[in-house]
Amino acid sequence: MNRALILGGTADASLLAAEIARAHVEAVYSYGGRTRAPSDQPLPTRIGGFGGVSGLADYIRREGITHVIDATHPFAAEMSRNAIEACAEAGTPLIALERAPWTKAPGDNWIEVADVNAAVAALPDAPAKVFLAIGRQHIAPFASKPQHTYTLRFVDPPEAPLPFAAEVIVSRGPFTLEAELDMMRMRGIARIVARNSGGDGARAKIDAARALSLPVIMISRPKLPERLRVESVAEIMQWLGHRTCLGA
Ligand code: NAP
Repeated sequence: MNRALILGGTADASLLAAEIARAHVEAVYSYGGRTRAPSDQPLPTRIGGFGGVSGLADYIRREGITHVIDATHPFAAEMSRNAIEACAEAGTPLIALERAPWTKAPGDNWIEVADVNAAVAALPDAPAKVFLAIGRQHIAPFASKPQHTYTLRFVDPPEAPLPFAAEVIVSRGPFTLEAELDMMRMRGIARIVARNSGGDGARAKIDAARALSLPVIMISRPKLPERLRVESVAEIMQWLGHRTCLGA
């Protein structure tokens, strides 16, 4: 009998969990434990790290996991690498549910960079109002360019002091184009730093930047080893051997 492990924490993982529950596939949903009040899932849920590759391989064996679905965020690269290695070690099939990255549309002014440090380097020296649309664990390097006024947006209020003075918005997406336009106009944002997450949930800020002709410093996704990867919940259900009521 199948018993799936969903490595979650994304909107796509929630859609998958709903479909898996509807299909009565036995499964466990795993959160990394980064947000204080993660959304409820219609599946048994566990929260927190497994303890690296060996911890995850042990968990897979102990819990009788037959299929692992990596539905984590495209920038959660450590978890994804661990899943590849642990599944190889345990001999368990792995598939990734991952949206395609965004691609540039006419009117976009993107400066594409490889990582956060390159994003810091790509900021101009002259003071500017910068919207840092990246996770809080990645903001520290921007302390080296303190001349800018940074706006940050988090799901939970920061618990520890930030590494530099910043205006903080506490809000959980998804955000509409109108809301992003209002936010950027109200704060006089001149430049955006974003990660190429892909998907619809986070793209309103990119559409707003285009509408306002603002440059976006776009951080590319981390490179991962080859793995089986699909973009839809329906394909995951097929892989699990189930029909789905969702469109592809
Ligand atoms: P990460 O850097 O790749 O992972 C660091 C460690 O956190 C992993 O080695 C693992 O610990 C633990 N972990 C991560 N995701 C886990 C999960 N779903 N279940 C159990 N343990 C997990 O990950 P991250 O970027 O901090 O992201 C953490 C979570 O937030 C993920 O679930 C991700 O989908 C979600 N999220 C991330 C982003 C983002 O921008 N990165 C955005 C939206 C949502 P052990 O080594 O101890 O197993």
